[in-house]
Amino acid sequence: MTLRAAKPERRGLDTMVQRKWATACLAGLCLALVAGCNEPAGESAEEAAPPAQTFEWTLVTTWPKNLPALGTAPEKLAVLVDEMSAGRLSIKVYGDGELVPAFGVFDAVSAGNAEMGHGAAYYWRGKLPVAALFTTVPFGMTAQEMNAWLHYGGGLELWQELYAPFNLVPMAAGNSGVQMAGWFNHEINDVTDMQGLKMRMPGLGGAVIDGLGAAAVTLPGSEIFTSLQTGVIDATEWVGPYNDLAFGLHEAGTYYYYPGWHEPGAMLEAIVNKEAYDSLPSDLRAILVTATRAVNQDTLDEFTARNNAALTTLVREHNVQLRRLPDDVLARLREGSEAVLDGVATDEISRRILDSYRAFHDEVQAYHAISEQAYINARTATGPNANAADEPG
Ligand code: CA
Repeated sequence: MTLRAAKPERRGLDTMVQRKWATACLAGLCLALVAGCNEPAGESAEEAAPPAQTFEWTLVTTWPKNLPALGTAPEKLAVLVDEMSAGRLSIKVYGDGELVPAFGVFDAVSAGNAEMGHGAAYYWRGKLPVAALFTTVPFGMTAQEMNAWLHYGGGLELWQELYAPFNLVPMAAGNSGVQMAGWFNHEINDVTDMQGLKMRMPGLGGAVIDGLGAAAVTLPGSEIFTSLQTGVIDATEWVGPYNDLAFGLHEAGTYYYYPGWHEPGAMLEAIVNKEAYDSLPSDLRAILVTATRAVNQDTLDEFTARNNAALTTLVREHNVQLRRLPDDVLARLREGSEAVLDGVATDEISRRILDSYRAFHDEVQAYHAISEQAYINARTATGPNANAADEPG
């Protein structure tokens, strides 16, 4: 395969280095024998330690190259892994279309044409409907709750089981936090305003708006701006102020709606080809897993820090019209979401994943109602920004 063209050369190089090393050792052994083997056996064994094996990996992504937070997350991962491993595991990152198109990432890594991928599991909903739960669920868990389910609630083990037949090892590798509901060129005053709307919305949210008479379209990030500007789509969601400003979506859409009911904490994924993962020694596997988890949190931190200033820029400098979705529209979207979620339970493992997600969600939201939510409500109600949600910027 084209993507692996460099590998035989590298392997050849490694083999050559090993051969030279072996030759040198043999020469040393001969000299030692000639000299009467005066050196202590321990020192000879230490000197004979082979050079550390190095790995050069290809990582393909669903994101435009270096797009803030989404595209830079795998770049940060590559730098971190390189530093932690002292160069033993080197990862080269490719953006959407550089080696494979955005929606070809899953298959490319599954087939071993690239060792790693970075994207979002809901893009694979066509072949694995339940995969969407490993990105986000309409009216579902927040970033904090998703991380808890994944790492302390059995979610990761279920995800690994789901991807195992595809030769893939999944890991959480970023989170956007609560997104925005999207960009529209007319106001949404009731559900009839959704009817006939051709809107870019991947994942389960897309299925929900279909149920309200809209026509959901799944497009990679790289195609959104032009599609909205040229009228191929009437509306779009993307991420939030930080990413939407970077794409210039305010130049193509007038009204910017919140809250992001459809993506309350979209988790990004890193996928690793199983054979490539197994080929790593245990310390490099630990480095890869630890670095990915660090990037998972770092991405959420970056979104949390940058969204605020980006929203202010959108509203104050670009006169974006910020709107909250009406309560009755949110209520209808909520009704539709439960039915769509039921629909992902197409087989035994999907049912187990859905059951696990719902059980954890029920528990965590019960506690968060009296902790996170109660605190934020109290902070807002008693603070100087009591009406901030309606008067941004
Ligand atoms: Ca989104």
